[in-house]
Amino acid sequence: MKTEDFPKEIQPFLIPEKKGEMIYRCLGCEREHGIEKLLYTCPDCGQVLLIDDTDADRLRAIPGDLWRRIFDYRRMLKIPAVKGIYLYHEFVGPVIPLESVVWLGEGHTPMVEANGIMQEKAGMRFYFKNDGQNPSASFKDRGMASALSYIRFLVQGGHVSDVLAICASTGDTSAAAALYAAYLKPHVKSAVLLPHQKVTPQQLSQPLGSGATVFEIPGVFDDCMKVVEHLAENYTVALLNSKNAWRILGQESYSYEIAQDFEYDMGGKVMIVPIGNAGNITAVMRGFLKFYDVGIISTLPKIIGVQSAHANPVYLYYQTPESDRRFVPVTVRPSVAQAAMIGNPVSMPRVVHLTDIYNHKEGEQKVFVVQVTEQAIMDGELLANRNGHIACTHGGESLAGLMEAKKQGIIEENEVAVLDSTAHALKFSGFQEMYFENRFPLEFEISPRPDLMNAPTFVQPDDLENVPAPGKSLGNEDFERFVRRTAETIAKELDLKDGEG
Ligand SMILES: *Cc1c(COP(=O)(O)O)cnc(C)c1O
Ligand SMILES: [Zn+2]
Repeated sequence: MKTEDFPKEIQPFLIPEKKGEMIYRCLGCEREHGIEKLLYTCPDCGQVLLIDDTDADRLRAIPGDLWRRIFDYRRMLKIPAVKGIYLYHEFVGPVIPLESVVWLGEGHTPMVEANGIMQEKAGMRFYFKNDGQNPSASFKDRGMASALSYIRFLVQGGHVSDVLAICASTGDTSAAAALYAAYLKPHVKSAVLLPHQKVTPQQLSQPLGSGATVFEIPGVFDDCMKVVEHLAENYTVALLNSKNAWRILGQESYSYEIAQDFEYDMGGKVMIVPIGNAGNITAVMRGFLKFYDVGIISTLPKIIGVQSAHANPVYLYYQTPESDRRFVPVTVRPSVAQAAMIGNPVSMPRVVHLTDIYNHKEGEQKVFVVQVTEQAIMDGELLANRNGHIACTHGGESLAGLMEAKKQGIIEENEVAVLDSTAHALKFSGFQEMYFENRFPLEFEISPRPDLMNAPTFVQPDDLENVPAPGKSLGNEDFERFVRRTAETIAKELDLKDGEG
């Protein structure tokens, strides 16, 4: 649709322009720092940062109802730069001009309602939001689109050149970073550090395929992160971990999309989010808070963070009575929710800061953290996918979290939940394989439920001497016999009835 065909009152707002002023704000000393330079932590006190718009009053000057119509009409535009996270340009990155935006197809992932069987098991209505349908098959693309658009903006402005983008990763961050960096060749190159044998073969194939320099390091993610931090402190590199506050901005789009898909009615809604490095839950909270503050939504949804009992520092923190809460990192144990196997989440100060604000906005607790077993995560994933979803282990963790929160009475049956399916099932299919073949190492504490197991059946009737093979075709008679006998065996196995098909 062309601009002139939109309603008159929408036209001036339809195509977003570079506006506002963004600054890094330190969560420790609250000082502001300019965004002309890439910063990850406060130069004064070392604490993590968030990016604020210092001219946010201009957003409040537009009534919520008009905002809602702007976003709804904007969805009809054919301009690539506003097809993804920058549909919400004014909230995601108003200082980024559209010509700097990198859009590789991320965002606007579907919310798929669970079928009757699943809703009955859960005792309530719920959806999976399939963030595995992003280009590198995880939600990390939202944040990378933002971080790399900002880097492209710096490159176009002549502020930086020959950027080396670097990150430590449990797999998905490096896949996304390498993909977006590859698009900005030759100005941006990427290097990723992965914990040796702690990412899946699929995840390893992604940065390799995108042409990144890949390093494997002994230890777990937390160890890789320390090496990357050392590099960022001592050399000129662009850090793409979630310390990078631009990533949080991009990931806020997840909340904006959900609000829009519910016609901005967030009453009785519950968001279920797995927690690893805690960047995702930070962004989800912040997204809803921003829409709430401007009057685009009038209720904040509940937010339930979920952690595995094998990597649960955030859960333990909130289990402690408020008066003696002190964050203590944990040593993680093996987890099928491998991308969340983090004992010392970088975004913990952001979570503490935003949870406090979120819980005080409407005068009631709205943020909760539950923990689930490895068994529940795996069973959850397999159950979901048997009912038409494409959840990875972390999506399974979301489902396990829903069940746990429901059991504890944190969620009521008349509420509607949205489960974050953070990556595509295929990225973590190795865990499904271990389940089906019952070969989880003991420390995972997972034993497969027979009703959820599955395996292929090899069909070769004993009385067949000749079977086809690559490069070897059978004579007519042998081939006909092969087809008939194989079909008969399958029909028997499936208990098929005679008929003409
Ligand atoms: C990164 C990741 C998480 C954890 O998100 P955080 O922002 O680190 O809390 C969960 N699931 C998947 C698939 C991920 O890639
Ligand atoms: Zn500071």
